Amino acid sequence: MHNAVYTGRFAPSPTGPLHAGSLATALASWLDARAHGGRWLLRIEDVDTQRCIPGMDRHILWQLAQCRLLPDAPVTWQTRRTRRYEEALAQLVCQQRAYPCACSRRDIARAAAARGHAPRRGQPLPYPGTCRPEHGGPAGRKACAWRLHTGQPQLLRWQDRRLGWQQQDVATQVGDFVLRRADGLWAYQLAVVVDDSAQRVTDIVRGADLADNTARQILLQRALGLPTPRYLHTPLVRAVNGEKLSKQNGATEVDLGDPVQALARTAHHLGLRIEARGRTVPELLQQLTACWKCTYGTAA
Ligand code: GLU
Repeated sequence: MHNAVYTGRFAPSPTGPLHAGSLATALASWLDARAHGGRWLLRIEDVDTQRCIPGMDRHILWQLAQCRLLPDAPVTWQTRRTRRYEEALAQLVCQQRAYPCACSRRDIARAAAARGHAPRRGQPLPYPGTCRPEHGGPAGRKACAWRLHTGQPQLLRWQDRRLGWQQQDVATQVGDFVLRRADGLWAYQLAVVVDDSAQRVTDIVRGADLADNTARQILLQRALGLPTPRYLHTPLVRAVNGEKLSKQNGATEVDLGDPVQALARTAHHLGLRIEARGRTVPELLQQLTACWKCTYGTAA
């Protein structure tokens, strides 16, 4: 896998315009691809149609173009690729690695409370395995979601290029996670794993807020017999109050009135220090690529 041509990607969800944090992810993944002489792809992650804003995909593409962050292949949209997700789920069902689930959030909270687990702020409760086939399945209740059977508790270790070795016991800490939601929408975990593999992505560069999804994604890659890419999770851009910047907490659209300034500020968030004054966008990007190599190195 890692002898393959370096292929990176930026995968925004069109739920809002790029803010300082998402532009940093876009720039980081672009710079890493350039630093490796590789390809950079753009994938619009619009599977969660309820949260997507019509036209936002085009707006994001425009924002990226202002910064000369241009993909090396045609842009892809996840909503146009659902057949691949269906095939992946069918494969997992055949392998008895996916099973239908009828639990509502309230059922999960109740089962967790019965085991003495209290919900913690911002942390979903681990799924207690109520509908696992060995526990009798949904037993007469109407099944609607599909979950991955995560198997026996086991520590999964993976290496991040910046954060070093990471580990998680997915079965215990997360539990069997959702592949297809009760409302029929495809879950991020399944779509991202299927697409990264179909697009032959060798290197995932994204914000550190997504790092704790990685063990789940590796487990899913293994279940589907897919290769695991390299990972690099970049430092988060924080709001003035120290919170992570996100569309949810109202992060504002990045100001691209002066793209050189915008890129220089973004580079600063990534720890890249260079003098931007008097440069054009292409000149700046070239300089930043060299600076990126010194700061983050290249993948082994
Ligand atoms: N679509 C995700 C987001 O906008 C990113 C997914 C990923 O990079 O794996 O947060």
